[in-house]
Amino acid sequence: MRQKDNQVKIKKLPDLENKITVIYGSDIFDMTLKILNNINLKSHLEPNSFIGLKPNLVLNNPPSNGATTHLEIAEALVCYLQEAGFDNIIILEGSWVGDSTKAAYRDLGWQEMAEQRGVELLDTKTDDYVILEHSGHKMAVSRTATQLDYLINIPVMKGHCQTKMTGALKNMKGLISDSEKRAFHRKGLHMPIAALNVALPQSLIITDGICGDLDFEEGGNPVPMNRLFCTADPVLNDSYMASCMGYKPEEIEHLRLAAELNVGSTNLAEATITELNEARVPIPAVVPGAKVSYLEQAVDEQEACSACYANLIQALARYDERYNLSDFFQDKIKVGQAFKGEKGSGFGSGICTAGFSTFVTGCPPSTPEILDALIDYKSK
Ligand code: SF4
Repeated sequence: MRQKDNQVKIKKLPDLENKITVIYGSDIFDMTLKILNNINLKSHLEPNSFIGLKPNLVLNNPPSNGATTHLEIAEALVCYLQEAGFDNIIILEGSWVGDSTKAAYRDLGWQEMAEQRGVELLDTKTDDYVILEHSGHKMAVSRTATQLDYLINIPVMKGHCQTKMTGALKNMKGLISDSEKRAFHRKGLHMPIAALNVALPQSLIITDGICGDLDFEEGGNPVPMNRLFCTADPVLNDSYMASCMGYKPEEIEHLRLAAELNVGSTNLAEATITELNEARVPIPAVVPGAKVSYLEQAVDEQEACSACYANLIQALARYDERYNLSDFFQDKIKVGQAFKGEKGSGFGSGICTAGFSTFVTGCPPSTPEILDALIDYKSK
């Protein structure tokens, strides 16, 4: 069956589109509630709405490994919405080709949570599909997704071997059929992802930036970043994510194309970015993957906050793509509160390292600021 774009019911939330709300921490359930209360989500939703939550369960792998959405975000959303009187909630996702969504639901706690909270779980691999069309691309999309009043996307902030990063825009791929996923890859991913986001809008995004993978969507190199961020514009969301990972929005092809198709704005300078707390969260105990271990050879970390550490690791990943990371293996980059008041030569990241001959100010400095300073430092 062919369904025209204008038959998709999903509503957008324009009042929340030019705003990004960020929170740092490790109590994911509580952080999510704080964001929802801060944006007063319930006041933006019409009563008796059919609301879909779209996590990233690309495969059956725990979120601590960097690939999948933390269950606590969805659970907090369900609790918040139910308390506000919204009872028609569904969680919908389709893992990548070859992996079982049902196994991920079962093994990662989603099935148990859904049963306890009285929420429906849908494996979109088993749904009917309707054909949506945009920019010459016909796409087989989950019929249930098209029937939602609101779609709340919960992507993971992580890298991707083909598209550099995967966020709100690319996470929508879990709502198409498996054969369509294969077709997207044959078509190079970028334009089909942009077109899908025109045909099937999303209402709100809460990005899981707790410990997403450095460069692979299937995980293995989690970077503790301890943050969630929320906006109603998927392009703005992914532009912010790109910045956190040391990319410019225009370097991410599907992001650039989505902006050209007016899915949203890449203009972070004009967005209102509100941080609900300070970024001073200790680094949690995470066993680093091979790539992160390699990057850590350039780092002398002592009592760093997780945001400071994560921004530095992301900057080093981008630096390593263009230059020689071993430049810093002897002359390691200092980061962390233990360096407060210390003096020395070399490069420091963050205001705590202000006693070093070169340092990036900020608490924490952003990934682009660190990357620019590293390049400048080594070119001298
Ligand atoms: S500059 Fe120091 S206090 Fe600030 S985030 Fe970095 S390590 Fe933490």
